[in-house]
Amino acid sequence: MAEGEKSKRHLYEVKDDKLVRLRDECPKCGPGIFLAKHKDRVACGRCGYTEFSTPKSRSTE
Ligand SMILES: [Zn+2]
Repeated sequence: MAEGEKSKRHLYEVKDDKLVRLRDECPKCGPGIFLAKHKDRVACGRCGYTEFSTPKSRSTE
């Protein structure tokens, strides 16, 4: 019935009752615009927004 919702599921995953986003959205462009993943950062190809993905470890700086 709600087959149209299937496509959305690719972007989300439910783990332990938590909704996990598989892809990050651009905070500037808003929902629907996703950040491209690089090895140490994510970047928006639309507006140029870049966000460094720091592993969950102590920040020494
Ligand atoms: Zn953007």
